[in-house]
Amino acid sequence: MGAKLVFGLIFFIFVVALLTLYWFVPLSETQFIVTQSGSNFTIGDLGSLELQFYENMRFPSNRISYGIDKCTLKKTDDMLRAFDILEDKTILEFYPSSNPEISIVCDSRTKIDGGLFIAGEGGPTNITESGDFHLISHGQILLIKESDCPNPNIATHELMHVLGFDHIPNPKDIMYNISRCDQKINNESINLINEIYSIPSAPDLAFHDFSAIMHGKYLDVNMTVKNEGFVSSPKSVIEVYADNKLVKKIDLISLDAGHGRIISLTNVWVKQISVDQIELVIVSSAEELSNENNRVVLHISG
Ligand SMILES: [Zn+2]
Repeated sequence: MGAKLVFGLIFFIFVVALLTLYWFVPLSETQFIVTQSGSNFTIGDLGSLELQFYENMRFPSNRISYGIDKCTLKKTDDMLRAFDILEDKTILEFYPSSNPEISIVCDSRTKIDGGLFIAGEGGPTNITESGDFHLISHGQILLIKESDCPNPNIATHELMHVLGFDHIPNPKDIMYNISRCDQKINNESINLINEIYSIPSAPDLAFHDFSAIMHGKYLDVNMTVKNEGFVSSPKSVIEVYADNKLVKKIDLISLDAGHGRIISLTNVWVKQISVDQIELVIVSSAEELSNENNRVVLHISG
């Protein structure tokens, strides 16, 4: 009887040990590769590069704030009329703010460069690459010379610079580098503004550079999550699924537009005996530019 009990106990311990070995010790490594991944949000070719300093330059929203500081009545009036012209022709709206996106300052001193009087200076002062866009978060206009024209052509020219538009070698165009009274904004620039700003002011979280590896019952996952939208993303959650079963939830902090985060998970316990598919999902409370890029599926390689 005693011997039987001892053998029984030894057998029991042996089985438990084997099971433990099977369940907990990594016996083999399994790598996963991407077989299905949502396409990234693309705006397509707008041909913006010839008109703008960089491709697809825009402010976060079609409502852009401004502040005018220490300008004469005439220069202030010219600037406001330049805003009116752009509001008339495009979907842009400009509003005054104490914390402006476009700062307008004035200088009465005459500036000369290469024998030419400088009428003004303007341009974006802060640009962030975000997805297919170059996001302008701040721009500045310096109005130097008062315009002698019926149209506020100097203020309009500098405002177009702030919106990302470069010079055009056509004397009849408002973006010609020397100011003349008969200059007009070309239709291509108007169309480009309307097209670029027709995309809503939203965040867009997307996966980049993801990989997964199983060693035994444990899962390691590496991923980069980027916000390729125009505004900050809210706090979100990343869910990791092994064969459609949730194995891990990760909290993701708020990300500014153009910013990203690298996330590495090691030794995530997976209950299933063999796993064919790992799925990563971003769960966000925000309306995003695209939801296609919030999910990625990885399959066993080979
Ligand atoms: Zn210029």
